[in-house]
Amino acid sequence: MLAEIRSLNEECGVFGIWGHPNATQLTYYGLHALQHRGQEGAGIVSTDGDALRPLKGEGMVSEVFTPEKIEKIAGHGAIGHVRYATAGGSGIENVQPLLFNSTTGSLAISHNGNLVNATQLKGHLERQGSIFQTTSDTEVLAHLIKRSGYASFEEKAKNALSLLKGAFACVILTEEAMYIALDPNGLRPLSLGKLGDAWVTASETCAFDIVGAEFVRSVEPGEFLIVTKDGMRAERFAYPEERAICTMEYVYFSRPDSDIDGINVHTARKRLGVQLAKEVQIEADVVTGVPDSSISAAIGYSEQSGIPYELGLIKNRYVGRTFIQPSQDLREQGVKMKLSPVRQVVKGKRVIMVDDSIVRGTTSRRIVNLLKEAGATEVHVVISSPPIKNPCFYGIDISTAGELIASNNTVEEMREIIGADSLTFLSVDGMVQNIGRTDPGSKCGHCLACFTGEYPTNIYPDTVLPHEKEKVK
Ligand code: SF4
Repeated sequence: MLAEIRSLNEECGVFGIWGHPNATQLTYYGLHALQHRGQEGAGIVSTDGDALRPLKGEGMVSEVFTPEKIEKIAGHGAIGHVRYATAGGSGIENVQPLLFNSTTGSLAISHNGNLVNATQLKGHLERQGSIFQTTSDTEVLAHLIKRSGYASFEEKAKNALSLLKGAFACVILTEEAMYIALDPNGLRPLSLGKLGDAWVTASETCAFDIVGAEFVRSVEPGEFLIVTKDGMRAERFAYPEERAICTMEYVYFSRPDSDIDGINVHTARKRLGVQLAKEVQIEADVVTGVPDSSISAAIGYSEQSGIPYELGLIKNRYVGRTFIQPSQDLREQGVKMKLSPVRQVVKGKRVIMVDDSIVRGTTSRRIVNLLKEAGATEVHVVISSPPIKNPCFYGIDISTAGELIASNNTVEEMREIIGADSLTFLSVDGMVQNIGRTDPGSKCGHCLACFTGEYPTNIYPDTVLPHEKEKVK
């Protein structure tokens, strides 16, 4: 996965555990497993029942935490967060979990996703006297909880969550409990697990594997789970709406060893590759995948087409993060540092290069170049998802439509821009059917908005893309 050098980034990953003496350490391990969902900041807030204690910083999980620091905030309950900082949301104040202290009880929130009515809610709250410290949507939830007229924390939280629109997979921590909630469309993944008597939640099941927790079930859209010393109770803050899980979780973001609603991500990607080979037949000598997220689809393509799979591209794993800067020049340099072609594999060969998506097209063009410079005689690019033509308002940093190569060009024009010998995208139906979700009462169970322009929620006139927040501050 080349998250650092392409304009397609997951916003966050969340983790939470309640009822374990080593909750803080286990959260640290859980965040390690979720590192691919955000590398710009990480945080943990824990409780031993007396207070909420934060530890957070900018950078990777291994840079932010040390065993000594973790030991200082040991507790039986903890929530954690990894984040990808968008242009308008960088800075330590935006690193989560956000912690709010008050004489009537503290709370901390980890949130994955973006609200589409955050600007409206913020305006409303500001008119009532709220002052915001961050540019994060998450702070809105804390203000709504504190301002709610209900008596108990549970009712306040449910009332506040019912006012949010958009994507939110949340874990909330107080001194007495951990609360888990997922938006009514279930736009982001969120799973529930158990580790002995402790309850665990995470954006992806790979975080359960690393701590030895057992998967129990997915959190349902509109659900509100309350975990206390007495166990776990499931309630609702909203009725579920049509299921619309982010398709890019299967295609690109999630780790191949994670399962989303019972579907293994690697297996789904492999099926996408098989389907691609059914939709397009190309004469070639080798199939290769862009590491890491496209390898599963490349294996599927190879199996179906009978063209051997080869490691034509290698990821340079130990490139310093600080070298990867979001400027055009440094991105150019970045792709050379991140990927190397295997000359002996591609030299003199007709290569099918499988990738999961094309955003601006610049990365694809550079990879095609790398393969050609290494001696590939033809490079055929096949993409295991349809063209991305529309921005995402739900927490994925997909550029504005003007920056998306597919929104301004035909497939043939795109082929020319990236310098490939052919370019093929997977069909929407082929993608949805081969991911293989079955969501009763739902059209397909997926959000397909970046492909089709049909957004599963209302999009408010003042909804802003995450990376445009700077402009409206
Ligand atoms: S618009 Fe695309 S990236 Fe955003 S949630 Fe929907 S499927 Fe995912």
